[in-house]
Amino acid sequence: MNDMTGKRMDIEDKGMMKHYLTGLPNSGGYLMAVRELEKITDLVNYTAFQFNLKGFGNINQRYGMDIGSKIIKLVAEKLEDFLENDEILGHLGGDNFVALIKKERKALFCRFLNGIEVEIPLAHKHETIKIASTIGMWDIDEPLVDYGDVISNPAIALQHAKHIVHQPVVSVTKEMLKRVSMQKTVLERYQRALEEREFLVFYQPKVDSRTNTLVGAEGLVRWKHEGEMISPGVFIPPLEQNGEIVLLDYYVLKRACEDIKGWLDKGIMPVPISVNFSRKDLMDPDLAENIDKIIASYGIDKKFIEVEVTETVDEQEHGELATFISDLFMRGIKTAIDDFGAGYSSLATLREFQVHTLKIDRSFINTEDFSWKDEIILTDIIHMAKALGMDVITEGVERQDQVEFINKVGCYVIQGFFYDRPLPYDDFVKRLKNKQYD
Ligand code: C2E
Ligand code: MG
Ligand code: MG
Repeated sequence: MNDMTGKRMDIEDKGMMKHYLTGLPNSGGYLMAVRELEKITDLVNYTAFQFNLKGFGNINQRYGMDIGSKIIKLVAEKLEDFLENDEILGHLGGDNFVALIKKERKALFCRFLNGIEVEIPLAHKHETIKIASTIGMWDIDEPLVDYGDVISNPAIALQHAKHIVHQPVVSVTKEMLKRVSMQKTVLERYQRALEEREFLVFYQPKVDSRTNTLVGAEGLVRWKHEGEMISPGVFIPPLEQNGEIVLLDYYVLKRACEDIKGWLDKGIMPVPISVNFSRKDLMDPDLAENIDKIIASYGIDKKFIEVEVTETVDEQEHGELATFISDLFMRGIKTAIDDFGAGYSSLATLREFQVHTLKIDRSFINTEDFSWKDEIILTDIIHMAKALGMDVITEGVERQDQVEFINKVGCYVIQGFFYDRPLPYDDFVKRLKNKQYD
């Protein structure tokens, strides 16, 4: 068989294709080697890997960058020794490697990566360390269409391993691939989706549990794309990451204002609608003014709109949030702190922010048995918030016993599946026409 390993492959004259430190193929060289390999064998018999060395940052810190680089070279040599002739190894940079390993050797390779022993190249003493890796894998299951997949698919699994499940080895699943491709699609389609009104606003009722009447609703966005209804959990994170979420938030506010105006024109009495604004939107210093202008442009009363924001631990964001909330307050626009108690809520929030509504997160009630500690904490928070003049609402209420618990600690307005899911426009209009639940 031809000598196909990246290390021995004849890419000498293509210096651009190699990593300067280890001499292994870089991404370009690796992909070229994959194409070459495909000429002589079926890639469906292979697993594509991408992996990072665990704790490599610490190694660099402890021994210095020079030794760190030498260690990378030593690891690369060990990896090459593991390879068989028809397998490929590449070095993308830093402590980031890729490999194409035969499926039958996949488990063996994982075990190998779990503890590569290297002797630290120190002048004065001998010291060996064992380096483990975090591994993302993709079992190639059909002929490649896009060669880049051999790098990007295991990378998706690697990200999942590192940031979501915190496990050493993850195989990419169809769901992960679908999610990532959906995120790519939304970024590509975003402008057109906005123009063509593919984003829909659903309304989830807020109900006063003492009287069982509709007292408000939250506008929640969905993306109707090619007949599928996609939830915000899929498309909001990438839009937040690339800083474009604000356009969607303005869009949702406009749709809510438009709907409210429409109901008023038809003689249907609306309820206040809350709209979510991402913390990423706070980068725009004109945010409050723009919100004010949008509401004004529809000629509706400000009392029909409430702005929901979540708290933050980031100090700069915290300052921006405080400014934003007080700006809205001065303009007479109501605000709510969303997901209170979910993560980083602090009592300072109650003191500092001039918010109208505190929205208690469902994590407090998302349990079979209500803890007496939660009961004490909630009772006090709700009491304080009310004494400070705030309204309190609990979200994510699904069961009768949760309603009872929430009432017991002093909160009566409820948003949750117990009363209604987020409703499409027509269903919500029916609720508006008959605000009484029975
Ligand atoms: P959120 O603002 O905390 O919205 C409440 C979420 O809880 C909604 O999920 C709602 O469907 C869900 N929910 C309500 N009641 C229940 C219940 O009883 N049980 C359970 N399990 N879930 C319940 P959704 O619509 O998927 O929205 C998720 C998040 O996406 C929202 O959380 C909000 O942070 C964000 N989001 C939604 N629309 C927008 C938007 O227009 N702009 C921005 N920036 N974020 C939005
Ligand atoms: Mg919300
Ligand atoms: Mg919430």
